Amino acid sequence: MEIENYNIVTTEQLCLATVESLELEIKELKAQNFSLKEQLVERITQEEQLVKANHFLQTEVNARKHTEITLRLLLEEVLSEKNDLEIILDTTTSHSDVIEALMYDKALSLAREVTIDGLTQIANRRAFDQRLEKEWQRLARENLPISMLLCDVDFFKRYNDRYGHPAGDDCLRAVAKAIDSCIRRPADLATRYGGEEFAVILPNTEREGATFIAQQICQVISDLNIPHESSYVSNHVTISIGISTRMPKYIVTSKSLIEDADKGLYLAKNQGRDRAVFGSN
Ligand code: GH3
Ligand code: MG
Ligand code: MG
Repeated sequence: MEIENYNIVTTEQLCLATVESLELEIKELKAQNFSLKEQLVERITQEEQLVKANHFLQTEVNARKHTEITLRLLLEEVLSEKNDLEIILDTTTSHSDVIEALMYDKALSLAREVTIDGLTQIANRRAFDQRLEKEWQRLARENLPISMLLCDVDFFKRYNDRYGHPAGDDCLRAVAKAIDSCIRRPADLATRYGGEEFAVILPNTEREGATFIAQQICQVISDLNIPHESSYVSNHVTISIGISTRMPKYIVTSKSLIEDADKGLYLAKNQGRDRAVFGSN
């Protein structure tokens, strides 16, 4: 009986021990399971991060590829432009003398166009304005006189009406040439002032010198002997001249010289034309 009881106890203890051991094992397995779950979550997070990083890198690679293509195209363009420039440079260098001469000619003809009157080929109004201003300043500095002649063809409207406009143009060319031939000093300048009017600048010239040149001009024009049947003063082309002489001053403008000459011209016309008259005493 005792032996029997002893066996039951032992079996029960064994069972209990087994249960305990199994419970322990279950605990351990549960713990392992939890740890595995945690590891799994961590892996999943890592994998997600790797996918994101991969996506980012792929985008970066694509962008770099695009930039590379753009740069390559740009490089091709620059190279082609460089080639063109080299060809131009070669041509310019090997023809530099010709190009320089052409540019010089062009500059000269432009300068001419700006200051020369197209019809008469003497200096134009712009050249007159520029030169008068320059001389006025210079002579004011040097305290020297300046004279001016304002010449106007007599009854020129009647000339055009009688002989036609092209003949009028020829007449103006001849008159311009004749006036130009009367001035000799390098600083003197004969210009077409406008229409049938011509202005002459005579720097460093007193009244006597200006009168002499004016009379000479009247004479030279008369000597051209261009027929003018419709003129009321002569049977050939004549001109009237207004003369002015002034001592340039900084405080007075060169306009005063022109105004005096204009007055002289008005008087010359009123006194019968074909003459030279001073605008002021
Ligand atoms: P005056 O003796 O008072 O100066 O009389 P005028 O007839 O000469 O003066 P007016 O101002 O009445 O006429 C000037 C004429 O000059 C009129 C215009 O047709 C002419 N004229 C102006 N420029 C030119 C030009 O370039 N060519 C020609 N053919 N005629 C011109
Ligand atoms: Mg006139
Ligand atoms: Mg006139």
